[in-house]
Amino acid sequence: MQLLKDKIVQDGKVLSDQVLKVDTFLNHQIDPVLMQAIGEEFATRFKDAGITQIVTIESSGIAPAMMAGLVLGVPVVFARKRKSLTLIDHLYTASVHSFTKNETNEISVSKDFVTSEDTVLLIDDFLANGQAVLGLLDIVEQAGAKLAGVGIVIEKGFQTGGTMIREKGIRVESLAIVSSLENGQVTFAEEDLSK
Ligand code: 5GP
Repeated sequence: MQLLKDKIVQDGKVLSDQVLKVDTFLNHQIDPVLMQAIGEEFATRFKDAGITQIVTIESSGIAPAMMAGLVLGVPVVFARKRKSLTLIDHLYTASVHSFTKNETNEISVSKDFVTSEDTVLLIDDFLANGQAVLGLLDIVEQAGAKLAGVGIVIEKGFQTGGTMIREKGIRVESLAIVSSLENGQVTFAEEDLSK
């Protein structure tokens, strides 16, 4: 998705060979016009998949997921990383290890919002080692829902998550695939150039 790649090049900050900071439009401040285009792109790619529910994870997955839900006309539920006062039982839970933060969180989604009747699209902001997606997949499986695929805003193709999830036979649509962050430069993967 060229608009997104241009934004990454223009505004992204390479913090290290492993980490890209996109706080100006995705992870802190949010660019609604870009989010709308992202939502439309996900909706176009998954329009024939019969999606009934989008599942994401707080907090940075919510904006792109919501815009995709708006275009597809389906609800969006986000997995919580902390238990809330009002969300205490009747939950699906899964463990997610974050390599960047070096901590493991239990994520949860109410059983009310993902059921065996659903065809689910998973959406997240970044795909790195794939742990967040694995946790969401676990919840979809527990619910007995059908999985249409995974939509990712920025995949770091030099980390293992994309390969691991695709090897499970799961459709992964990433709107920008970064192949390298070496020398402070963002390089995109070839396969993504046509999109
Ligand atoms: P994974 O579970 O695939 O290893 O990592 C996915 C999660 O880690 C994302 O939801 C995102 O919050 C965070 N993350 C991983 N790599 C990066 C990165 O380079 N930049 C930012 N901003 N977040 C990242």
